[in-house]
Amino acid sequence: MTDCAVFQDRLPELFETSANLSEEEHLKHCENCTALVRDLEYIAQQAKLLLPIHDPSPTVWENIRSAIKSDVGQNSSSPSSARSAT
Ligand SMILES: [Zn+2]
Repeated sequence: MTDCAVFQDRLPELFETSANLSEEEHLKHCENCTALVRDLEYIAQQAKLLLPIHDPSPTVWENIRSAIKSDVGQNSSSPSSARSAT
């Protein structure tokens, strides 16, 4: 697992506990995850507006996670190697 994967695995927990993400070590040196967190904060904000619930269902986080995965996949694979995976 890469640092980014480990960090992103913790993201739902961090969001749920309203952790101070600016104190996350990983974000201090990873622009990719910093941008990702910024996007997620925006998505979470929109989600709260759309769904006034205090306890997001696992489905919500699953959707966000798959959005993360597709986003990271686009950023980390070069166009030439994207098709040769698996
Ligand atoms: Zn990262």
